[in-house]
Amino acid sequence: MVFPWQKEQWHQLWQALLNNRLPHALLFTGIAGTGKAEFAGHFTRLLLCQNRLPTDTDVFNAAAQCTCHACRLISGRTHPNVLWIEPDKEGQAIKVDQIREVSEFINQTSLQGEYRIVIINPADHMNTNASNALLKTLEEPSSGAVLILITDQASHLPATILSRCQHIMFPRPQAALAIEWLKNQLPDSSMDAELILNLSNGAPLAALEFVTKEIPIVRHDLFQALYGLSKHETDPIQLAAQLQDIDSLRLLDFMLTWITDLLRLQSGSEKNTIINRDFAPQLAEIGQRSQISNNLRFMDYLLQLRGQICSGINFNKTLMIENLLIRWMECV
Ligand SMILES: [Zn+2]
Repeated sequence: MVFPWQKEQWHQLWQALLNNRLPHALLFTGIAGTGKAEFAGHFTRLLLCQNRLPTDTDVFNAAAQCTCHACRLISGRTHPNVLWIEPDKEGQAIKVDQIREVSEFINQTSLQGEYRIVIINPADHMNTNASNALLKTLEEPSSGAVLILITDQASHLPATILSRCQHIMFPRPQAALAIEWLKNQLPDSSMDAELILNLSNGAPLAALEFVTKEIPIVRHDLFQALYGLSKHETDPIQLAAQLQDIDSLRLLDFMLTWITDLLRLQSGSEKNTIINRDFAPQLAEIGQRSQISNNLRFMDYLLQLRGQICSGINFNKTLMIENLLIRWMECV
């Protein structure tokens, strides 16, 4: 489906298609967890659907329900005119052999003049050889071929590739729209959709994943433990061992919301303006007995570490977490 916060992007591409000005290479970019890949699948259906739908609004609503042969094949990822290029395993690189497949695929004679669509996701996972190979394909557009590159981190792509694609931005959805959607998706109506969305960088699909993977429990236990550490009641080494399974970035993001909330309370903000409102009493209490300057330093440290992990530096996870927790203890 096209999500309610993607109407503008949908309209933009629909207009391009109507005017026969659909670019041969598109780059879908923006924060993770807003549904860019789902949008690409849906847009592919628009290009290949056997029931061409008449107007913009109709397409937006009706394409979601279409069950024609082409739409069914696309949903099942078995349509012969659609090629999905993804890493073999999550986190791995997209390799040059996979990109060679792209040029073979789009140079095949098109069946009945139909579109041939390649979706590369995440495009920033292409290694250097793969990027170079793709560049050749981008430089020699083949008629009827549409390349869709999807990325959460456009800055990791070479400028030569960026400049050859039309960029379609998928910004952070409007909070009200995202909360309304999320409320209808959550397995339990008593869950705080706003809190979960805020903990997921405002990205609705990331928020849903957050809930279904039982991450709220991890977060709750982590914050309990951080509170325990602040009173020197928890052993950081033992705690670090328990936190091994949590994704490093997820852990850092949790700790960043924790320290940001703490600093907000220390600078006089109301308890209902913080993200982790369910931990407001504990945070307020820590705020009473810790220094703003120490907390600011700790936040800087977290941000620096986050930047290093994002740029691909590999840390020994156990040591990293132990170090983090000990620094937090020293901070309070
Ligand atoms: Zn269809």
